[in-house]
Amino acid sequence: MDLMQRCFTGPPKALTFPRQPVPSPPMNSTVIETLRKTIRDVPDFPKPGIVFKDITPILKEGSLFRASVDLFLEQCRDQKIDKVVGIDARGFLFGSAVAYELGIGFVPLRKKGRLPYKTESAAYTLEYGEAEMELHIDAIESGEKVVLIDDLLATGGTSASAVTLIKKVGGDLVSAIFLIELEFLHGRKKLEPTPVISFLKY
Ligand code: AMP
Repeated sequence: MDLMQRCFTGPPKALTFPRQPVPSPPMNSTVIETLRKTIRDVPDFPKPGIVFKDITPILKEGSLFRASVDLFLEQCRDQKIDKVVGIDARGFLFGSAVAYELGIGFVPLRKKGRLPYKTESAAYTLEYGEAEMELHIDAIESGEKVVLIDDLLATGGTSASAVTLIKKVGGDLVSAIFLIELEFLHGRKKLEPTPVISFLKY
């Protein structure tokens, strides 16, 4: 089957290409601990006092990148989901892989000024000052079931603005899923009553 045929025969049940080159490691606690050890703490980035959780060491190892995407997928399979919304920018990495595997649409939620078409926007508070996130007005159909994905939940300001925007355009938010949660910042409180799932808690 050539590429054009694949595009017009509906969503694939599984990946269209063989998975041979990268072996999947064992799941669950072993995987979680391996991912935890692989994440790199970078002190004082991007500002003094912030310990940045750098996930690029996970991304560069095929088996670990796959294992992390599989964690998200486990939470999404067997559910009716129409769209994955990924948060700018690392939410795009996991979110688009999940959407591809499920054969559903991916929607980017971006920082202000980066989306080309008409947008809805929501402001949120950062540690110092304010920021704004945007979503295309036609990105989600009214009533569509949506999963929100990002790499990390910190104070919850970014994801709370995502929740606001998804609801504003009529989306039905099923859950918000994060690879990492900084629990001491209590971000999930800002997302209530949305169910929040995270795999690596600090
Ligand atoms: P917040 O709005 O405080 O929940 O921040 C979440 C967003 O900022 C996510 O998109 C993260 O990618 C990023 N972020 C916040 N804190 C960190 C951190 N310590 N390490 C890595 N990314 C972070």
